[in-house]
Amino acid sequence: MFQVTPWSTLPLIVIFLAAWTMASLKTKNDIPGTRAVKWLLIGAIVWSAAQFLRTLVTDLELKVFTLQLEMIGKQIVPTAWFIFTITYANNKSAMSQRALVILSVLPVTTLLLTFSNSYHHFIWASTGLTSFGNFVGVDLHPGPWFIVISIYAVSLVMSGTVIAVHKLSQSRGRAISIVSLILVPVIVCIVTITQDAGLGPVQGIDLTPLGLIVGALLLRSGVLNAGLLTAKRVRRHTVFERLSDMIVIVDQQANVLDYNDAAKRGMKIQSAPGESYPRLELPVLLEMIRTHGQRTELTIGERAYDVHATSLSEAGQPDSGERALVFRDVTQRRKTERALQEAKKNLQTQAHTDPLTGLYNRRFFMQRLAEEGERLRRHHNTLSCLLFDLDHFKKVNDTYGHDTGDAVLRMVSRMTNQATRITDVAARIGGEEFAMLLPETDAQGAINLANRLRLSIANSEVIANNQRVKVTASIGIVTVNRVGDNLDALLGMADKALYRAKDGGRNMVCVAN
Ligand code: GH3
Ligand code: MG
Ligand code: MG
Repeated sequence: MFQVTPWSTLPLIVIFLAAWTMASLKTKNDIPGTRAVKWLLIGAIVWSAAQFLRTLVTDLELKVFTLQLEMIGKQIVPTAWFIFTITYANNKSAMSQRALVILSVLPVTTLLLTFSNSYHHFIWASTGLTSFGNFVGVDLHPGPWFIVISIYAVSLVMSGTVIAVHKLSQSRGRAISIVSLILVPVIVCIVTITQDAGLGPVQGIDLTPLGLIVGALLLRSGVLNAGLLTAKRVRRHTVFERLSDMIVIVDQQANVLDYNDAAKRGMKIQSAPGESYPRLELPVLLEMIRTHGQRTELTIGERAYDVHATSLSEAGQPDSGERALVFRDVTQRRKTERALQEAKKNLQTQAHTDPLTGLYNRRFFMQRLAEEGERLRRHHNTLSCLLFDLDHFKKVNDTYGHDTGDAVLRMVSRMTNQATRITDVAARIGGEEFAMLLPETDAQGAINLANRLRLSIANSEVIANNQRVKVTASIGIVTVNRVGDNLDALLGMADKALYRAKDGGRNMVCVAN
């Protein structure tokens, strides 16, 4: 009925190795592939436990029963390996429900056939006892279904392995893992199939545990301990998901192939009905993708983004058109830039402006005068300059106070501004001295403007202490067609004309001669 032989130790070693490996996996459950590896180990434990039991019993019926149990493990192992390789390669924590159902069709059928083998002998054509020394083993002849499950298991295991190896070969420093990943299934498949086909080297003795031991050791050292299921890839994935920048992977047609959480929140990516991929419908992005552009800016809602496109084609390979678009939120930066620009503009304005009147200041006037002088030298066109000083202004201050004097200065500035064209430059160049630069204006034009201005000043007034305060201005004009280097000479000429106006009785316009 029972026997105690050294052969029982082999499956025990497998059980021990599988359990030991399983224990070391406990904490890493969230890593893609881990759950499948656990199932793989469970399958190996069931498989080996059945083998262990079989080495203990001598009764054919019991032996067949352990064979049936073993078949459960044998169905789990290749399926779990396939799921492990696929989920690992695709960085998914689980397979879809549908894929699992499809994957379980053949194993479940096999198990049904296994437990009903005595009726059809599809799995085992015949079973009998045989002995090797004092060990009673089982003598098997595979049935037709065995070929089906063998082909299925090998295809499943090998296709998954090829995909995972391909994926692994894209990362650096994975040679050991790759070799192990190939060797584990190859060794287990060869040993198992040879044994199942009745081609085992020792009749009656199941040597698959030896294959499983080598497989389990390789899985531990070459695959798991070499860091395949450690955090490296997961970290990459986590970085992708948790990065605050939105990342969207698109193809040449702007179909969205992948995106991270930030993009999901920021862009509300959705497929249109009937379309398998969502599409990026932002014209700026479509244009960038179409023209293979590498950078663009765009706004989504209230936020501004700097978008960088990186080709995902391998170096030396033809361009697949796939791009990673990284959206960096630059809203705050743009705001700061705008504020800075505004501040710069304000500073510039302040540097150019007279604070009391809002007219340009002397510095800006001299700068513009130099520019106009330069233009004049090149184009020989006409330039007029007008200088004016308020008459008896000291008296205004003395009579009504400084504040009223200031109010008068502001009123005169308004009049001056009203008299200017866009190209003219009106400035307060001294206390109550003003100047106007009139490009493209001949003497007559300047005289007309000066008289208009003189009259408008004379006819305006400021009310102070219920009194009307009126001022007049004396104006000197100079008109030139070609100016020498000495711009001061131009102002000097205008100044002379101004003094003639003062001397002539004030409130008048004089032209330099
Ligand atoms: P004139 O007709 O000869 O020009 O007589 P005036 O009294 O205007 O003489 P002048 O041009 O020399 O006087 C300038 C006066 O302008 C001196 C000062 O009291 C006054 N003034 C200069 N700057 C300001 C200012 O910013 N505000 C005020 N309220 N008065 C100013
Ligand atoms: Mg003066
Ligand atoms: Mg004056």
